[in-house]
Amino acid sequence: MEVELKEMLEDLEALKRTLSDPSHHDSIAKLQQHVERISDLAKSVPSRRSKVQDMSAEVVDSNPYSRLMALQRMGIVENYERIREFSVAIVGIGGVGSVAAEMLTRCGIGRLLLYDYDKVELANMNRLFFRPEQSGMTKTDAAVQTLSDINPDVVLESYTLNITTVKGFETFMESLRNQNFRPRNGDGGVDLVLSCVDNYEARMVVNQACNELNQIWMESGVSEDAVSGHIQLLVPGETACFACVPPLIVASGVDERTLKRDGVCAASLPTTMGVVAGLLVQNTLKFLLKFGQVSPYLGYNALKDYFPTMEMKPNLQCSNAACLERQKEYILTKPARDAAAAKAKMEMEASSATEIPIHADNEWNISVDDSYDIEKTDLTSSSDALPEGLTRELPSADEFQILPVPEETSTSIDDLEELRRQLEALNAD
Ligand SMILES: [Zn+2]
Repeated sequence: MEVELKEMLEDLEALKRTLSDPSHHDSIAKLQQHVERISDLAKSVPSRRSKVQDMSAEVVDSNPYSRLMALQRMGIVENYERIREFSVAIVGIGGVGSVAAEMLTRCGIGRLLLYDYDKVELANMNRLFFRPEQSGMTKTDAAVQTLSDINPDVVLESYTLNITTVKGFETFMESLRNQNFRPRNGDGGVDLVLSCVDNYEARMVVNQACNELNQIWMESGVSEDAVSGHIQLLVPGETACFACVPPLIVASGVDERTLKRDGVCAASLPTTMGVVAGLLVQNTLKFLLKFGQVSPYLGYNALKDYFPTMEMKPNLQCSNAACLERQKEYILTKPARDAAAAKAKMEMEASSATEIPIHADNEWNISVDDSYDIEKTDLTSSSDALPEGLTRELPSADEFQILPVPEETSTSIDDLEELRRQLEALNAD
């Protein structure tokens, strides 16, 4: 375009010379000014970076992956480049989903599948990611536009559909089965599904799809009063599915669409959504790249800065038939899995006996501070008043502490009745 504009300027100059009548010169000069302005604008449009063949650990300013590959060099991640092999499906490209998509894109994920039926509105601008000029675009298309500019290496698939419709569900299932990106064992074509939807019905649909496909997924949610949220790992057959236990989000009996119609809408904050998206993607990276501990359930209470964790076992009487199938399979394969785990543990113990501790002495002069100490703080209750129809997702921290808390912060609960009782206590105002 720059070349064409330069030629146009030259043509105008030549035209000016051939015109003997000076009264025409002013009009030509005006045209020249317009072309010069367009030329300046064209120069200010950022050019997209070219694709990168291999992730390099080279420490240069032009390498988009140097800081990520440093995780490998520092021994946190064994093989960071593996991230390019993974496919992650994100259902719901709202306040949490869009930010999660951006984080994964910046981390260099291999492929992202994005699902949403909604359009970008100015009412979404209190959250991160979407820009005012994208108003009216579908959320999936607007996301692809932004994400492909940020990192052209990521394969992006946009699905503008509602998964709760029959047709939408069929396309959703088909896309999750598609193994074009990377052939693998089993039925699934993605490594992880992230549920970032804002209603119970859509969560149940994701639950159904993942139970049917034996697909591991993570659920996320932010409460309607915008001050608490959670993330949860769901492994079909191994952990509670969404139908196994009453969800921690208290169904208030009204969904967002109804609330919008009445001129009342749920509150949302970019901070809470950003924190939940951060926790979700952190858990995703740990799960995919196999480092640290993947949280089975992690809550976030913004008013108290309180992060409860717990584990949930599946319900033997779950109403979801596919969940019961997965539970049976899990029990049948348990002996083989236990034997493999015991063998791996023995091998790890044998090798760690001879290993030198990591970071005992490193070239970066970084040391690990192990003096972390949690002091018991005085948790005072704040105002709990909420508009009618809205319910808090998480309990206040002090209420939770009345419950029998085991030695560690993480709770393992085997007995479903006990779990139900605890959930009820958690949700009580
Ligand atoms: Zn279940």
